Parts: sequence; structure tokens; C-alpha cells
Amino acid sequence: MTFSDYFHPIDFSSREKLPTNSPLAKAVELIGSFQSPNVLLKDVQGGNTANHPIPIFHFPTIADNGAFRYNLIPDKLNLPYIMINMNSNDYLMTVAHEMGHAMDHLLKVHFMGSSSVSSTKKIYASEYDIDPLQPWWTAVQQTAAYKQIQAMDLGALAAEPCRSENLLFATRRETFACSFAQFIALKSGDPKFIAHLDARRTSRSGQKDRYWQSADFLSINTTLEHLFSEIGW
Ligand SMILES: [Zn+2]
Repeated sequence: MTFSDYFHPIDFSSREKLPTNSPLAKAVELIGSFQSPNVLLKDVQGGNTANHPIPIFHFPTIADNGAFRYNLIPDKLNLPYIMINMNSNDYLMTVAHEMGHAMDHLLKVHFMGSSSVSSTKKIYASEYDIDPLQPWWTAVQQTAAYKQIQAMDLGALAAEPCRSENLLFATRRETFACSFAQFIALKSGDPKFIAHLDARRTSRSGQKDRYWQSADFLSINTTLEHLFSEIGW
């Protein structure tokens, strides 16, 4: 099994299929090179072994253009899935960001065991103090972009003290998804994918500080390379 078995971006509810030469297809191919994760699909999915383990659905009206969902209700199908709005200008980054959340979830299963999957609402490895993720988190905290979004969060919390954590950007789970998306975009080397990354880190309203300028990202890139090569993904 390769990692690409987790991601089938051609499985849109609209029946649209990505052309095989699309940048996203290349990204998925690249993700597939993180071969043989030590996680069984049935462990992630509570027994479901559908052909498209983490389907990606086109959902034009979704807020923020994308979401990763995991159903924690034990007696329901625990199928993780990704929803994105394919009509958004920089949808490649949306998919890569949501894939980052999916990857974070799979890392939790990998490092903490499948029995922990539905036992808590914290479904991401990044939400725990796990040694293999410490170098990544240390690197993130030292970046200029992180310090900016942290300041943005503090400003938002000052104006609205009870603001939901879901609306904050400097959390470990959100910075992991952003880190992963930028990592994959850069690795793809695809001009369109890079253009979507550039759109995110320069002009996108409310989002521009979530992604890193090139020099600022180097240390994060190194820690992610190391993390994935260490576990053989
Ligand atoms: Zn996110």
C-alpha cells in the first residue's frame, strides 16, 4: 500500500475528474512516494474499507473553501473525508491544507495507536507533545510568519475574549496543515501550485500571514523532510 491509497482526489461528488497532468495529481503522486505508512485503513476508519478511504468532495458553498472532517460518533461510519470548493482561485492550496489535517490525523494514529482514534476530540498528532513533532513545532515558533499570526490571534482575543479556538490561526493543528501544504506545493515544483501558494502568502484577505516567505520556511521544510523520512512515509 502506498500513501496515495489514502487520497483519491478524483472522487468528486460532481463527477468531475482531475486531469492526470494537473498539479494536484502530481502532488498526490508525490505524497504517494511517502510509501507504506504503518497505519491500517480499517484502524483509521473504524472498520470501513471503502475504496476511497479519504474522499475529496467538491462542495461549492463550504466556508473557508475547505474542511477535513472526522466523524467521532462511535456508532456512525467513521469515514474521514475532505470537502473543498474547486471554484476558489487557489484551490490547490485548499486541498493541500486539508490533506495536511488528514496527515496530522494519520500521524496521531501512527504514533499513539488506533485505540486512541475515537477516544478523544483531539484527533491530531500536533495537539499532543509527541517527541517526533517537537523539532517541527520548535521551528514554526521561531518563524516571522508564526509571530505575526500569533499577534493577530492575540488581537482577536483582546476584542473577543471567548473567541472559539477554531477561529484562531496560531494553533499547532492549523500551523501543521499550513506547513504541510507549503511543503507539498514547494516539492511539486509545479508553477500553478506555486502560484496558488504565492496567492496565499501575499494577498489573500485574512490569510496572507499564515504561509511563509521562502527563507522563513527553510527550517520547517527541513523538519518535515526529516519527520516523514524517519517514519518511512
Ligand atoms: Zn485548517
